[in-house]
Amino acid sequence: MEQEFASSLLEGAVSEFAKLPGIGRKTALRLVLHLLKQDQGAVRHFGEAVINAREHITYCRVCHNISETQVCPICGNPARDASTICVVENVKDVMSIENTAQHRGLYHVLGGLISPIDGVGPQDIEIDSLAQRVASGEVKEVILALSATVEGDTTCFYIYRRLAQWPQVKITQLARGVSVGNEIEYTDELTLGRSILGPHPVHRQFHTAITPISTMADNYLEYAREAYEKRIAKKRQAVLTRQRKFLEQYRKQQQLKKQQNQQE
Ligand SMILES: [Zn+2]
Repeated sequence: MEQEFASSLLEGAVSEFAKLPGIGRKTALRLVLHLLKQDQGAVRHFGEAVINAREHITYCRVCHNISETQVCPICGNPARDASTICVVENVKDVMSIENTAQHRGLYHVLGGLISPIDGVGPQDIEIDSLAQRVASGEVKEVILALSATVEGDTTCFYIYRRLAQWPQVKITQLARGVSVGNEIEYTDELTLGRSILGPHPVHRQFHTAITPISTMADNYLEYAREAYEKRIAKKRQAVLTRQRKFLEQYRKQQQLKKQQNQQE
């Protein structure tokens, strides 16, 4: 790339910052100029914090959450319920669920979702290690806390099928419904349909906000099929009405022509 700044050192720093997600060259320049105004000790501290984090933070070998030790503090805490595993996409989700202070079990971080379009298959995320944890026999319940997207649903179904060989393990999914503060009118049809099909008792417990995934899947498929059929029926009706109108007009025109011919 062509050098934009008078100093190659400045150029180097800006280029490094611009590699960060969501940071363009303009923002990168602003950040670097801000750091240049700070005293040297503060900037050294900043750099060391980043290097230390990279060198010493690793992933828990059990749940793949971020950890400074081989086994993270959550997996290592004897007070946590090891029979319940909450499956999430990434470490940020662990933080979000931990903030609710409602989940007393352990976690399993997949490190992504199955997405054939992006070339991400089941073998690319931590599903094998989840199956191994379940196979150990200690797990009684697996809660799938994945996004309500096509990728999230695909991953849920895949895990559900994969864990079906242990029928004693209960597999549940987070409830999907209307967000707090959202108006019913503006909630999309599918979300609303799913919330009506899977109503949950109003309770503060994390665990009450989940339904067994098999019921969820059946209800959802049934609902999707009905919604699809309704839409098709509506379209068919519209086409028929249009055809009928056209025919009526055509007949009238023909009649008029006939009358005109007879008069002549
Ligand atoms: Zn862990």
